[in-house]
Amino acid sequence: MSKNITIAIDGYSSCGKSTMAKALAKELGYVFIDTGAMYRGISLFCIENGLVDNNEINVEELIIRLPEIQLSFVTNEETLKPELILNNVNVESKIRSIKVSSLVSKVAVIKQVRQKLVHAQRLLGQKGGVVMDGRDIGSVVFPNAELKLFITSDPKIRAQRRFEELKGTENEASLEEITQNLKERDFIDTTRKESPLIQCEDAVVIDNSNLSEQQQLELALDIINEIKAIKVFE
Ligand code: C5P
Repeated sequence: MSKNITIAIDGYSSCGKSTMAKALAKELGYVFIDTGAMYRGISLFCIENGLVDNNEINVEELIIRLPEIQLSFVTNEETLKPELILNNVNVESKIRSIKVSSLVSKVAVIKQVRQKLVHAQRLLGQKGGVVMDGRDIGSVVFPNAELKLFITSDPKIRAQRRFEELKGTENEASLEEITQNLKERDFIDTTRKESPLIQCEDAVVIDNSNLSEQQQLELALDIINEIKAIKVFE
C-alpha cells in the first residue's frame, strides 16, 4: 500500500493554487493547508493592533509581539473548507480584503515571521497526507516533498478570476485594484531576500490559463498516478 505523500504547490498570486490544492486534498482524502492564509492572518493582526502606518509595518514591534499571535484552522461544516482562526476568532472573510492583500507581501518579507510560520507549517504537515500551497513550500517548507507542482497562469486571466471571486462579497474590489495588487505581490514575492518564490528544478509546471478547474484537477491526478507508477511511496 502506498503511504500518504506530501504535495507542495507553489506559484504566483491568484493563479488557482488553493482551488487545485483543495480539490486534490478532497480527492485523495488529504489535509489541505493554505499557507497564504497564515501570512494574511499576521497582516490582519498588524492592522488590528496599530502596527501599520501608511501601509508600512512597524517591524520591530511586530517581532516583539509575534509570540502573541496564535493561528489555527477550523473546517466550516457547511462548505467543508478550512477557515483561519486568529487568536480564537474566525477571520476567514477579513483576511481576504484588499487592505490585507496590499499589506501581506510586506509582512511576508520579514525573516522572523517566516521562521514562525515555516515551523508551524512543518508541524501541520509532518505526518504526510497533506497538500500545502504557498510560495516556498517546495523550496523551503518541504524540500523533500514527493510531488512539487508549480502553477502559472496568464496575469490578465488571474486578475479576472480574482475579480469574479470577490464580486458581490464584502471584499469586492475593482479589476484595476486587483490587477495592481497582483503585480505588486508578484514583484515582492519573487524579489525578496528571504525565501523568494522560485520554480524548483524538480517541480512539474502547470499553466492553467486555458484549463477549467476540473481539467486542472484531472491533470494533477494524472501526474500523481504517473509518479506513483515510477516511485513506490514506501
Ligand atoms: O496565497 P495568498 O495569495 O493568499 O498569499 C498571500 C501572500 O502571502 C503572498 O502574496 C505572499 O506574499 C505570502 N506568502 C508567502 N509564502 C507562502 C504563502 C504566502 O510569502 N508560503
